[in-house]
Amino acid sequence: MDLKKYIAEIENFPVDGVLFRDITPLMQDGKAFREACDALIAFALEVGAEVIVGPESRGFIFGCPVAYALGIGFVPIRKPGKLPRKTESIAYDLEYGSNELHIHADAIKPGQKVLIIDDLLATGGTVKATIDLVERLGGEVVGCEFFNELMELKGRDLLKGYKIKSIIQYD
Ligand code: 5GP
Repeated sequence: MDLKKYIAEIENFPVDGVLFRDITPLMQDGKAFREACDALIAFALEVGAEVIVGPESRGFIFGCPVAYALGIGFVPIRKPGKLPRKTESIAYDLEYGSNELHIHADAIKPGQKVLIIDDLLATGGTVKATIDLVERLGGEVVGCEFFNELMELKGRDLLKGYKIKSIIQYD
């Protein structure tokens, strides 16, 4: 199945000059969404993930089905003020704007094999910040995977030394 045809391209969203890749048509199609999740699950099995970590909010959409399929836990990475207990946090720059991310301080066990899942790899800032949070808690990042990768933004350059997988790519 050509999964790219389920991604809508929206010009100048959320700010002028950005071409936004919208995954909601993919999510609305049961067969396409399952095929995307199955591809993500295959990599999760290959790297031996023991827990999935996903950034708010589209990382939840792809991360939770993978955690469910493997019978392992899911840990949310959230924006400030959302997680109710003690957190670790990090500030970083986005493709558009800046952001701060939090993780519950007790969410990862030392040595636990962590797979990070998000919908899209652009500059790599979000996943790099997520890696830093996981490693601060003692987790071992065994891979990072994305449904979609924007190759021209060279996010992989920020992620040297980590196993990276994407299901579809745009030049
Ligand atoms: P990065 O931090 O790699 O520059 O940007 C990736 C993050 O921004 C991901 O969490 C992703 O959800 C969001 N993002 C950036 N651009 C897009 C886009 O065009 N489409 C979607 N769906 N998410 C985007």
